[in-house]
This record gives sequence, C-alpha cells and structure tokens, in this order.
Amino acid sequence: MRIPFPQRLLDGYASFRAGRYASEAERYRRLGEGQQNPTIMMIACCDSRAAPETIFDAGPGEIFVVRNVANLVPPYAPDGRHHSTSAALEFAVLQLGVVHIVIMGHGRCGGIRAITEPGDPLSTGDFIGKWLAAVRDVAATVEHDHDQSRAQRLMLVEQASVEHSLANLRTFPWIRVREGKRQLTLHGAYGRWFRAE
Ligand SMILES: [Zn+2]
Repeated sequence: MRIPFPQRLLDGYASFRAGRYASEAERYRRLGEGQQNPTIMMIACCDSRAAPETIFDAGPGEIFVVRNVANLVPPYAPDGRHHSTSAALEFAVLQLGVVHIVIMGHGRCGGIRAITEPGDPLSTGDFIGKWLAAVRDVAATVEHDHDQSRAQRLMLVEQASVEHSLANLRTFPWIRVREGKRQLTLHGAYGRWFRAE
C-alpha cells in the first residue's frame, strides 16, 4: 500500500504558493540565484516555541538559522566526526560572512530538563544524553539554593548553558579572530516570555 504524503503538508504548501510565495516571488527569485547575504546567524532549540523566523518576524533570507536540541554549540573539534552545527557555523562565518551570531536559550526547555533531572528517559537514548552531556557539567556549576523552585533552577541552567555555548563559539579559530577584529559579535539571548512562572 502506498502511504500518502501528509495532507497537512500538501495543504500548507498550496497555501504558501498561493499566498506568501506569490507576494514575495521577487525575493525568492533573488535568493534562488544565490543572493543570500544574511548578517545574523541564530542558534535556537528545536522546541516549537523557539522558531526564530516566527518570533523575530523575519522573512526568507534575513536570518541564517540553525536549530538543535537545547540550542547548543559544541567546542571546535575537527576530528572527522559528524558535526552538523559546526558545519553550519563554518558556512555562516566563512561563506556568508555573518556579523552577528546569536545563541537563543528559552524557558522550559525539554532538553535541559531531561539532562538535569536524573532518570529522565530522554537522557538514556543513543544520542540525546551524549549530545547534552555538556549541559550536565554546566548544571553542576550552577549553585544549588534550596529556596529555589525547580523551575527557577532550570532557568538558571538554561541561561548558564547559553554562556557555555558562547564560550564554545570562541574555541573556533575563525570566530575568535573575527571577534577580535570586531568583524563579528557574539550574543546570548533568552526567551523569557515563555518560561515557567
Ligand atoms: Zn529547548
């Protein structure tokens, strides 16, 4: 039996073609001819609430976006393994020449919660636990105050994780050099507006 392509996607694509694509055809044509020159790269979480194009009201070609679980940047490690986020950084910095890199953390991050709370099933799979191992180390450096609620502590870990990723950005030699020459600025951001209260 042939499994149909999801109808939701077919409907959405038809709507896009008739609406946004039709009204922005010229912009899409220029982007298709390789005229891509975004000045901002954003690294955001896969969480559905953290979509940069949506929350910053950006059109195609305005922000170079990379999303991964818990918006992490790994350290510079040219070891032949699969480094998708590092590959995207290399493209954005060396080919596109972005002048800002923004790492955006967010409240109630499921990835951060999974790795900081013992026994969470997400942390014991083949990949997620290993990908998030650095967050466990970051969490260990965040002071534990017994007056803190669980949500407050998670927020501090989420924010410390952004700082950790900023430090990892500076382990990439071509980022460090450009930052030193003031050709590139690194920013940490935190989506407080959808945190737990
Ligand atoms: Zn998240």
